[in-house]
Amino acid sequence: MSNIPKLGEVKDITRIERIGAHSHIRGLGIDQSLEPREVSEGMVGQINARKAAAVILQMIKEGKIAGRAILIGGEPGTGKTAIAMGMAQSLGKDVPFTAIAASEIFSLEMSKTEALTQAFRRSIGVRIKEENELIEGEVVDIQIDRPASGAGIRVGKLTLKTTSMDALYDLGSKMIDSLVKEKVTAGDIIRIDKGSGKITKLGRSISRLRDHEVSGAKVNFIECPEGEIQKRKEVEHTVSLHEIDVINSRAQGFFALFAGDIGEIKPEVREQINQKVADWREEGKADIIPGVLFIDEVHMLDMECFSFLNRALEDDMAPILIMATNRGITTIRGTNYRAPHGIPVDLLDRLLIIHTQPYQEKDVLKILKIRAAEEDVDISDDALALLTRIGLETSLRYSIHLITSASLVCSKRKGTEVSVDDVRKVYDLFVDVKRSVKYLKDYQDEFLY
Ligand code: ATP
Repeated sequence: MSNIPKLGEVKDITRIERIGAHSHIRGLGIDQSLEPREVSEGMVGQINARKAAAVILQMIKEGKIAGRAILIGGEPGTGKTAIAMGMAQSLGKDVPFTAIAASEIFSLEMSKTEALTQAFRRSIGVRIKEENELIEGEVVDIQIDRPASGAGIRVGKLTLKTTSMDALYDLGSKMIDSLVKEKVTAGDIIRIDKGSGKITKLGRSISRLRDHEVSGAKVNFIECPEGEIQKRKEVEHTVSLHEIDVINSRAQGFFALFAGDIGEIKPEVREQINQKVADWREEGKADIIPGVLFIDEVHMLDMECFSFLNRALEDDMAPILIMATNRGITTIRGTNYRAPHGIPVDLLDRLLIIHTQPYQEKDVLKILKIRAAEEDVDISDDALALLTRIGLETSLRYSIHLITSASLVCSKRKGTEVSVDDVRKVYDLFVDVKRSVKYLKDYQDEFLY
């Protein structure tokens, strides 16, 4: 398999953050005994739902979640996504979190199962461990044995000393190339990165200064490094299985990750990646980190998708699947059958169900305060109170949006703190759903004729 990346190659991928609205969520905000704190880690209220989520977290940590999934039911804007995100954050910093809406599965230019497979593999992290052994010292002697014919493997030995000791190193072929390229000679102070085989010339040994070997040249004379010859540096980075798939898919290539133009990935590529990752795990070079896949509006999925989910949950590399809905009994998409939450019974059977509640005034106020701080917006108490009222009458999400736009209006007038007037202005500029519907209703006659 020539196109599998070397361990170091996949580490530079920037994850594209698409969940800015939840950037204030840093965990579930629970204490040691799994009790939610009123306000903690960006989370406010929803005590029952968070408590249930905390118990599920515990099950996940004890490895007792296999084959099951979580369903969060509740009104729009009651924090279903926030709770899923909080669970992912509580599991660890590099635990992947993917949020999709079920309707996205149908709108992408690929089959439904391919879109779901990509979402699953985005939610599985591969933590790659690289152990770099760095050696620094003064070169005392180098011996390179060149093979008689060009075909053999070159071997060599390097005697290196620090102020405290001398050591003899066997050289690999890569190191020899690097030594030749850097024109390393006795008396150089070098650094060897045993992981990559790279050799860097740091300068000339100060003890050689007297010899005037390199007279005239601009050479950095330095003291031989003290203490230990070897330093170990563990480098870890996490990429998702999907990122590895894309990089290794000849048809798409590395840049597809940034362009978002991924297309379908061949099953053979995935099989090879799975094998490679299994090898890395066996060699102790990588760990699998199951992340969290959040599917919003799950009632929008159809039978084919549900049967995919049923199967995918059985996989030993499955992420934690959290689904959300605000529907009660509804028809399963594409059928005439009605079912709770529009989900077939065999999947319902695997679910742990959590409910979120509509927010009280004090909770809305606290969430808005946290959001304002997160967006670096100073806001007066009156303006915050007004936003809270707007949030209760329209939606929490609408009033969160108003924070951003009100702060723009505030900075336009060179103000330092968002005032009631700023909020009023943006409230008039951007209508909430209720007003928008009313407006269209009031004027529908004019629109029609
Ligand atoms: P929908 O059903 O429409 O997808 P939702 O239930 O997933 O909505 P969220 O998107 O989680 O709702 O919430 C709306 C906004 O309010 C987000 O910015 C979210 O981070 C924030 N939020 C909601 N609940 C809480 C909470 N309990 N603590 C802190 N922030 C919250």
